[in-house]
Amino acid sequence: MSMEYEFTDGRKMNVGTMFCVGQNYSKHAKEMGSEVPKDPIIFLKPANAYIPDGGKIILPSISNLPHHEVELVVIIGKDCDNIDINEAKNYIAGYAVGLDITLRDIQNKAKKDGHPWAVAKGFRTSAPISKIIPSSQFGIDIPDFELELKVNGEIKQRVNTNEMERSVEVLISYLSGIFGLREGDCIFTGTPEGVGVINHGDKLHAQLKGYVTLEVKVE
Ligand code: MG
Repeated sequence: MSMEYEFTDGRKMNVGTMFCVGQNYSKHAKEMGSEVPKDPIIFLKPANAYIPDGGKIILPSISNLPHHEVELVVIIGKDCDNIDINEAKNYIAGYAVGLDITLRDIQNKAKKDGHPWAVAKGFRTSAPISKIIPSSQFGIDIPDFELELKVNGEIKQRVNTNEMERSVEVLISYLSGIFGLREGDCIFTGTPEGVGVINHGDKLHAQLKGYVTLEVKVE
């Protein structure tokens, strides 16, 4: 069964490849004990990792340290290869808030051993994404958003997306040049500082302030 995003105007679109960016906010890079990398850190999640607003995160028993990472998610609306930075905005279908749920202990071990992050980042239900706000709702420029995450009502992460080290335009240009981007692909644009543990029974409430919310429960 193919997974489908839902837009705030009721449209639907098949979920494609999910591209994720590591350490795109300097304060988060610092809390992870590193600096913003010279070249972007890119990893993938399978489409099967997607869950919609109201869904449930099912934590795999292989981890004792699942973490939340709230992120702006950009959904690609048209196929593109080798796109210039100043053309990038023409390929955006819309914006959403997402959670890059991460098995931090598994990821730390993979980093240490020089192994891929696929298990730590791509397990089933690791990619909750809100409804998508159509890009047509905004002017010609890519908007800045206030991104926020509450866990059980307490604010854990909050940032303005204008603090990203690499902008949405830069990321689209980079990814389109290397992988090519296709309709339904999305980009998790990186998390701000304040990542932390989630536990069974937690309620996660993420939002792009004034636009869209995402509520999921940890099973
Ligand atoms: Mg992330």
